[in-house]
Amino acid sequence: MRGKRSDEYTMTDIFDNRILCRDCNREMKPIQLIKNGFVLRAIKCDKCGAKIIHPKDEQEFRNFNELKKKEFSVKMRFVGNSYAVSIPKEIVNFMKEQEKIMGDMVKLCFEDFGKVSLDFNPENKINRRFG
Ligand SMILES: [Zn+2]
Repeated sequence: MRGKRSDEYTMTDIFDNRILCRDCNREMKPIQLIKNGFVLRAIKCDKCGAKIIHPKDEQEFRNFNELKKKEFSVKMRFVGNSYAVSIPKEIVNFMKEQEKIMGDMVKLCFEDFGKVSLDFNPENKINRRFG
């Protein structure tokens, strides 16, 4: 298990250093890349457009894609007047690590016929990794 983000602030991060573009010898500027709703810290050279994704975020994004490929079979159970399904711990834990889950409430909607979606981050909180 990784530590909380707040602890990571006190640790030295490679992106806290000045990183120069290999080709232009100019300082690269921090940016955020969004892929599949996943926020990745990156730095970019203004001159040539070269980008470097934070290695930790790149790894997390890979883990995310691995998890996305998986299909889980879960059973519907009748609870009170509703049906309940279990969300695999793997998914919830991953999102908790990413701080995508703020509370116990999720938004559920009937998306397409035969498809129900769950939104764990309905307010779409912007990732605050840059502080
Ligand atoms: Zn450059």
